[in-house]
Amino acid sequence: MARVAMVGCGATGSALCSLLARAGVGYLRIIDRDYVEASNLQRQVLFDECDAAESLPKAIAAARKIQSFNSEIIVEPQAVDLVPDNIVELLGEVQLILDGTDNFETRYLINDYAVSHNLPWIYAAGVGGYAVTMNIVPGETACLTCIFPDSPKGLVETCDTAGILNTAVNLVASVAATEAMKLIVGARDRLRQTLLSYDVWTNEYAQVSAGHPREGCRACGERDFVHLAGEGRPHISLCGRNSVQIHERQRPIDFDEVMRRLIPHGQVKHNEFVLKFWREPYEMTLFPDGRAIIKGTTDTAIARSLYARYVGA
Ligand SMILES: [Zn+2]
Repeated sequence: MARVAMVGCGATGSALCSLLARAGVGYLRIIDRDYVEASNLQRQVLFDECDAAESLPKAIAAARKIQSFNSEIIVEPQAVDLVPDNIVELLGEVQLILDGTDNFETRYLINDYAVSHNLPWIYAAGVGGYAVTMNIVPGETACLTCIFPDSPKGLVETCDTAGILNTAVNLVASVAATEAMKLIVGARDRLRQTLLSYDVWTNEYAQVSAGHPREGCRACGERDFVHLAGEGRPHISLCGRNSVQIHERQRPIDFDEVMRRLIPHGQVKHNEFVLKFWREPYEMTLFPDGRAIIKGTTDTAIARSLYARYVGA
């Protein structure tokens, strides 16, 4: 049975999971750090209004939806952020990694892991009407670092402001899911060996040859895995929203206890998966492992002080 990891389950990840699950992929590990919001529903096909009302973690909501149309698939949801500390645990024992992330930091991390473990992965991204994808087969094709030695600024800076057409999402997911199927059934001779990009709005189309590793590539050539070595990344601004993520793994949270403490300070509610706390103009979403997403600011100092005040230093 093919074991596939989906890193990021927003627009592209949802579409990929849906296609692959319906195509019969028997095992999906879905890793996503975020929760469902109403604004996601325009393009994130595995979620509905009930998921948004409950602020369900996307990994959990995706797993439930997939099980509702195919109960035989093993779906393993992981509502966590993929970081150097947990990547071996989260990506262990899979044959293929798919990219549904919204940021290059995580993509470089996946690339380092995949190249160092000789695992294929498929890069997929989009912004506006533009979609781009590439297969990475370590040792055979170019890796992500071969093509983009540094983070391409355009994609990074505009994903927040430009949004994405749901048709561009489905296009890139269809292409990437088909390549995934080829890898799963062993049809390697049919794999596309290019970086493919397409803009559904302007009709611009391009393919850049990616059939061979670039000489001197830091990752697949020199095997210098700087992202895997990764220094601590305590605070991360999320793409696409006015929010900051705080990492506090190793801090298991008792939601009932935190809720009792927070009641005098603002509106608070929780379910099994998340605790939400509103204190104008901020909204804090707390996960059971202590991770938090604080909405209403991009200032990490403010986010840190809110976390220290309401959750603990
Ligand atoms: Zn490379």
